[in-house]
Amino acid sequence: MTLTRREAISLLGAGAGVGLASRLGFAQNAGTQPAFERGAVIRALLKDVAPATIDGPVLFHEHLSIRYPLTKAMAEAQGRPVPVSFSDDVDLMIAETKAAGADGVRCIVDGGHPDMDRDLDALKRIAAGSGVHVVASGGFYMQRNYPADIATKTADQIADQLVQDAKAQRLGAFGEIGQQGGTLTDDERKVFTAVAKAQARTGLPVFTHNAYTGVRVANPPIPMDAALKQLDVLEAGGADVKHVAIGHVCCLDDPKAEIAQQLAKRGVFVGFDRVGLSVIIPDEKRVAMVLALLDAGHADHLLLSSDFANGRALKKNGGPGIALTVTTFAPMLTKAGVSEAVLRRILVDNPRRFLAVVPKV
Ligand SMILES: [Zn+2]
Ligand SMILES: [Zn+2]
Repeated sequence: MTLTRREAISLLGAGAGVGLASRLGFAQNAGTQPAFERGAVIRALLKDVAPATIDGPVLFHEHLSIRYPLTKAMAEAQGRPVPVSFSDDVDLMIAETKAAGADGVRCIVDGGHPDMDRDLDALKRIAAGSGVHVVASGGFYMQRNYPADIATKTADQIADQLVQDAKAQRLGAFGEIGQQGGTLTDDERKVFTAVAKAQARTGLPVFTHNAYTGVRVANPPIPMDAALKQLDVLEAGGADVKHVAIGHVCCLDDPKAEIAQQLAKRGVFVGFDRVGLSVIIPDEKRVAMVLALLDAGHADHLLLSSDFANGRALKKNGGPGIALTVTTFAPMLTKAGVSEAVLRRILVDNPRRFLAVVPKV
């Protein structure tokens, strides 16, 4: 591969990750584009974005506005003080998101919704102030976060609400849609069905949350096939697998990536979306699973992100920052032998294909 002058400068001038991100974006401009459906857009909060104009990495599951694990509603119900969240300081989140942009990130999907205290106005300020496209999501997180009326509504009623929210609030995805244990509760199954119906009606992509505990022992254990069962419910509800990402698969200790491979074969994206979260599973194991997935020919089904939700990881606090997928994890893949062309597909092309839809609302 011949380096252009600009590529050579980025190689010489920046830290490994920043240089890599810069080269990914640059190569994308010069290279081929994946086929996007005519009229497809990425529905960012401030405007619809033509996917071909995004020339760098897209992070499909991060949190720029969240209160976790104890939300305001939960704290009030328990008579406890509302805890402070790192993302309450919106100016700080603007600065950190801007820094992610400087690290090469062009678009970030926020994985929160109201039952995780995601603040839509904060996301709008972050998008406007950082210059990074922000996609906001709709949905419900997991049983313990559900508003009381989920229990009494039907899946169709919940789907109606999700479709209305998407339209009224310029939502660009449904996620993260989760389960808190190894088996879907009745309400969680209903929410998954509702989200599948809303996906079919709006076209918007869906990403999920799993309860996989990595190398830690869970009691009771989380079944290996929990991710496959989520997909069963989404498919039965009519979701388009091309716009579904089953999440947190990188938190399953599965050295040969067998579950990930089964998911990819069924046409969905596989979310390796907790990279950097080494308390659950060391990143070295994630790298090995990525290699297994790539060796099996599934590069086009892999999505990377870090599920950023911890103030200690902010640059201000000495952490790697929101772009750690690009600045920390991607260089590990490079070192393991993954080519820049494949990395570009994974970090730039795959998330654009996942997110770009012809909106039906
Ligand atoms: Zn999650
Ligand atoms: Zn998340």
